[in-house]
Amino acid sequence: MKPRRIAIAGAGLAGLYAAAALARRGVEVVVVERAAALGEAGAGIQISPNGARLLARIGALTAVEAAAFQPEAAEIRLGVSGATVLHLPLGAVAEARWGAPYLQVHRADLLAAVEAAARNAGAAIRLGAAVTGVGQTPTGAALLLEGGEAVEADVVIGADGVRSTVRTALFGPVEPRFTGQVAWRGTVPRAALRPGTVHPTATVWVGPGRHLVTYYLRRGDLVNFVAVEERSEWRAEDWSQKGDPADVRAAFAGWRPGATDVLAAAETCLLWGLFDRPAPPAWSSGRVALMGDACHPMLPFMAQGAVQAFEDGAALARLLPQADDPAAAFRAYEIARRPRATRVQAAAQANARLFHATGLVDRFFRYAPIALGARLAPRFALSRLDWLYGHVEAA
Ligand SMILES: Cc1cc2nc3c(=O)[nH]c(=O)nc-3n(C[C@H](O)[C@H](O)[C@H](O)COP(=O)(O)OP(=O)(O)OC[C@H]3O[C@@H](n4cnc5c(N)ncnc54)[C@H](O)[C@@H]3O)c2cc1C
Repeated sequence: MKPRRIAIAGAGLAGLYAAAALARRGVEVVVVERAAALGEAGAGIQISPNGARLLARIGALTAVEAAAFQPEAAEIRLGVSGATVLHLPLGAVAEARWGAPYLQVHRADLLAAVEAAARNAGAAIRLGAAVTGVGQTPTGAALLLEGGEAVEADVVIGADGVRSTVRTALFGPVEPRFTGQVAWRGTVPRAALRPGTVHPTATVWVGPGRHLVTYYLRRGDLVNFVAVEERSEWRAEDWSQKGDPADVRAAFAGWRPGATDVLAAAETCLLWGLFDRPAPPAWSSGRVALMGDACHPMLPFMAQGAVQAFEDGAALARLLPQADDPAAAFRAYEIARRPRATRVQAAAQANARLFHATGLVDRFFRYAPIALGARLAPRFALSRLDWLYGHVEAA
């Protein structure tokens, strides 16, 4: 029988996107979220055209665009000298080439837009309910909640992030692994900076063992920064904590003013340990599947974690509601999505090596061909992103 009721664990970007996409197909959806209120870290997120296209599909793009900033270009620049390694036009060029805009948006604005799309499509969101496990029979599945209640459905989706309880319930415990990188994140009002300090670009400032990303949000009223540093260990109990702006300023001391002026203006920031988990043996088991960071957590260096979760949600919405055999639909979902998500994970890891290269020779052999290629053959440089940004997840 085709699944008519779907229970989703986790109301992050993955779970809410899937809820919107599935509910729009006429399926009854309930999302169960541990937190008492919906929220995202007070920082920015980049949505590439493959993700913007999928926001349009759930009716959320107009709201996201209204709150976003559209960068003119993506740049890689050397942190100390400021020399430009790569300049790729985005803006109208991106929209024409890949059929949807490249956007930078505050996470709270993005989550609110996706939540509104889910609610408008009829999905129910239940807050303050922690999932402790899953159960399934040949004809149904359930989310098991703290306190003993079961939320019954025809199928269950685990969208509960890198520390997924649903994944543990399916495949046993595998501790998240510290990737050796920490990220400070924060925002600064544009008004706190001298005019022209931050270019209207998504800029990655690179240096040995660290990099810093700066870009505008909220139509240019806010500047977002993500500052990443390699570390041998993560000592905190939690994986995110309050950061000290003095630490991030010290880590990037001596870099160009376009980078350091933003950090100098930061009054607060968050510090995250970046964790991943080995790939699960499968993305589903019977009537229970995983999506988003619960099954393919990735370093943020391709700016694709949330966008790949949207692609998961779109694939589930295509395959699940019309499937007589939900377990087979989940296997088809994995076949459709896993190779691509794995490729993006690998690309993000490659960017860590590129951004953090140490030693003059290594840096020269990594950056010179990119700089030369982008100058001599700019169209070719853009075409290298076609597989990612030009992807249209089938409807
Ligand atoms: C520094 C940084 C920068 C990034 N930049 C980008 C970017 O520019 N572009 C991009 O696309 N991606 C980016 N990402 C990645 C992106 O943020 C994540 O991939 C995405 O948010 C994952 O969404 P998710 O819904 O799968 O997981 P989460 O956001 O972790 O959401 C999981 C939800 O499940 C809930 N939950 C967990 N356990 C339970 C439970 N037991 N019961 C009930 N609820 C539960 C949680 O409370 C949470 O609401 C970045 C990540 C980082 C760290």
